Amino acid sequence: MRYVSTRGAAPSREFDDVLLAGLAEDGGLFVPETWPVFSPAEWRALRGLPYAELAARVMAPFMTGGAIGFDDLQAITRASYRGFDHAAVVPLVQLEPSLFVLELFHGPTLAFKDLALQVAGRLFDHVLSARDERVTIVGATSGDTGSAAIEACRDRLRVDIAILHPEGRTSEVQRRQMTTVKARNVLNIALSGTFDDCQDLVKAMFADAPFRTELRLSAVNSINWARIAGQIPYFAAAALALGAPDRPVAVAVPTGNFGNILAAWAARQMGLPIERFIVGSNANDILARFLAANDMRTAGVVETVSPSMDIQVSSNFERLLFEALGRDAPETARTMVDFRASGTMKVSREVWQSVRRDFAGLALDDAATLAEIARIRAETGYIADPHTAIGIAAARAAAPVGVPVIAAATAHPAKFPEAMHRAIGIRPGLPPRLDDLYDRQEHFVRAGNSLDEVETLVRHFAHRNDA
Ligand SMILES: *Cc1c(COP(=O)(O)O)cnc(C)c1O
Repeated sequence: MRYVSTRGAAPSREFDDVLLAGLAEDGGLFVPETWPVFSPAEWRALRGLPYAELAARVMAPFMTGGAIGFDDLQAITRASYRGFDHAAVVPLVQLEPSLFVLELFHGPTLAFKDLALQVAGRLFDHVLSARDERVTIVGATSGDTGSAAIEACRDRLRVDIAILHPEGRTSEVQRRQMTTVKARNVLNIALSGTFDDCQDLVKAMFADAPFRTELRLSAVNSINWARIAGQIPYFAAAALALGAPDRPVAVAVPTGNFGNILAAWAARQMGLPIERFIVGSNANDILARFLAANDMRTAGVVETVSPSMDIQVSSNFERLLFEALGRDAPETARTMVDFRASGTMKVSREVWQSVRRDFAGLALDDAATLAEIARIRAETGYIADPHTAIGIAAARAAAPVGVPVIAAATAHPAKFPEAMHRAIGIRPGLPPRLDDLYDRQEHFVRAGNSLDEVETLVRHFAHRNDA
């Protein structure tokens, strides 16, 4: 499978290169040159397979032509999902006659990002060992992504990972999920500064060409195609369980960077009858405004009780835009460059309407989110975290009549104890395998907000592991 850039000014590449590169050289995002399609009979044949087997089959067409053969991929998905604490890996729970929650939080860090990152970390190792290379992954986190990336990379042989977090500004659960990992190839840096300072330092490290080359810097952020590929299988598994390809379904997803909902959309490109894509947002409601009124205007980021969606610009939206523009890469590039410069995305009425045929959106502020958590608990007994509750509310508002909706449960409620307490008066407990999290030893180094200081730490750490 070859990949092209949404901005059309970078050469097409094979999966292995796309995996290691992340972003295309022209600033665009990689998309498959053509979408692989399964026939209805091929989809039916996947029904009832163990999740790791289904995942390998759904992902395989995206990886052909490189170092990852089908048997390798199957070994990787089996290893990735072995540690999940539910036999179904991604269980589907019925809340209402036509509303099903797809629980994506049974992995090591209790959020959906584990599903793709566990696979991505192992894919990195596989491709890098075929090439006899190593990389240093650097990233900044305000909480969630850092721990999922660390869990995905710990103990990988070809990857070192250094994650910066703003000291004292992540929740204790989130910090401990990162810092209690004891592995030779993991470096946690507690920065005296804000999350933006952490992000600026990561950008500065990538911009420092000699440093970047010396350490072979890399990233596993949510624009990496492997992350999207790793999220398609669970939408397929849920759709198949509810009768697809012989019966249509809809999907509702609490959305930040647009990665998870884009994976559901990719499942439809592959032939599954997903009739509607419902996007839930918090007070950072740029996507809901776009879907309601073609108003994609950035504003300042607002802090909410659903912090993993406190995002202004949803990077993965560019992939949908590219398709909505009929794969016109120059027009995609113009639209994105202009959006960066002006803060407003200008999309024609026809293109906007074509997106609206498939996508619907709903935004909830914090009060509505907490009320929805309480409503779900009272009416169904289900305890949904703030992100999940936003997706469920959106599903109820925008579901097509007579079509079962799959609402993605993106995090375990124990990750957000304070919000849960405000909503329903309880602090949900951590699953048994994490219940000693507060007793485990933490491992991190402190750094000032200085590029020199951080680069020195990362350099020493990575070279120690080279030896
Ligand atoms: C990352 C995250 C989201 C947003 O997902 P996107 O793919 O960025 O849209 C939603 N909920 C939780 C719990 C998350 O961690």
